[in-house]
Amino acid sequence: MLHLKRLLRVSNRSFLAFIFFFSLSTSCLYFIYVAPGLANTYLFMVQARGIMLRDNVRTIGHMIRLYTNKNSTLNGTDYPDGNNTSEYIAQPIAYLPDNFTYAPNLPCPEKLPSMKGVIDVNMTEITMDEIHQNFSKYLDIQPAGHWKPKDCKPRWKVAILIPFRNRHEHLPILFRHLIPMLQRQRLQFAFYVIEQGGTQPFNRAMLFNVGFKEAMKDLDWDCLVFHDVDHIPENDRNYYGCGQMPRHFAAKLDKYMYILPYNEFFGGVSGVTVEQFRKINGFPNAFWGWGGEDDDLWNRVHYAGFNVTRPEGDLGIYKSIPHHHRGEVQFLGRYKLLRYSKERQHLDGLNNLNYTPEITMGSLYKNITVNLTPELAPIEDY
Ligand code: BGC
Repeated sequence: MLHLKRLLRVSNRSFLAFIFFFSLSTSCLYFIYVAPGLANTYLFMVQARGIMLRDNVRTIGHMIRLYTNKNSTLNGTDYPDGNNTSEYIAQPIAYLPDNFTYAPNLPCPEKLPSMKGVIDVNMTEITMDEIHQNFSKYLDIQPAGHWKPKDCKPRWKVAILIPFRNRHEHLPILFRHLIPMLQRQRLQFAFYVIEQGGTQPFNRAMLFNVGFKEAMKDLDWDCLVFHDVDHIPENDRNYYGCGQMPRHFAAKLDKYMYILPYNEFFGGVSGVTVEQFRKINGFPNAFWGWGGEDDDLWNRVHYAGFNVTRPEGDLGIYKSIPHHHRGEVQFLGRYKLLRYSKERQHLDGLNNLNYTPEITMGSLYKNITVNLTPELAPIEDY
């Protein structure tokens, strides 16, 4: 150090100042590039606290009005002004009774007695072998995690696509919750883990496009669920079938204090029919790094004339497996790309994607490893 200082012929003060500014700027760069979502999460938490506070004040105001105004029309079925009433009205959820009898030649109902509601979330680590022993032996799971009910005709054939890199301990935790939940929902399903090789920033969206193309080679799936590996559903009445409209399953996340962070939020877990996915030309391939690809998907579905539905009330709640982001970089170019969502929609997606997959068959999922680079999805000028 002394040698370096002498070599550069600088005073002690300027040398210290240099060290100080150097550390400051590297810390800032670290924050901007390597701490994806940190600022976001913080911002959404602050926002969530604000919303909770506002709701509490409203409820208190509502109670006071109830007690003080004897002629008030407010009663158990009226709601304070300006609230999204759907949040307040207790939805009549008619689930079938326990003695319901299934018929092998009839479609499985959507609101089954086996769907009991709140799931006991268990985040303790477990090995894939243990999961495999528990599930494939006792629950009739076929290779690649393929399962279908026998007592009724599955309403949806769902391919669960999981983008993946370097999260080996998360997969078995996710399977531990998803397999029993999907079985209770009487859906036909299989799991596709699409793993990104190489050194490029993570491209969640492109991995989903690859997963879709590969899954369709196996079976004519009719419903696709795009599932982050670290999102654990907390309610088994969050039905993973598809519908007339694309669906956002992960509406309320513990990391955002169970409040939708913004109306256009489409991250974590979402689903579309195969037909809808083809119509929107899949996900964009141009989002390298953390953030923005789910916002672009939101734009795509809306430009194609769809709306997004979400599970009612608290059915769409999820816990995130706690972890440190491992060197994932934020995608700073996302805002610019999002301004041109419409122009890019039919130039970038399923139709400009090339890749060479390496496929291995796991007992509970199919692993598709791809080395992704921007050259694999060339895009014309727009
Ligand atoms: C990002 C999305 C992300 C959301 C919530 C947004 O700023 O663009 O990709 O899902 O924040 O974290």
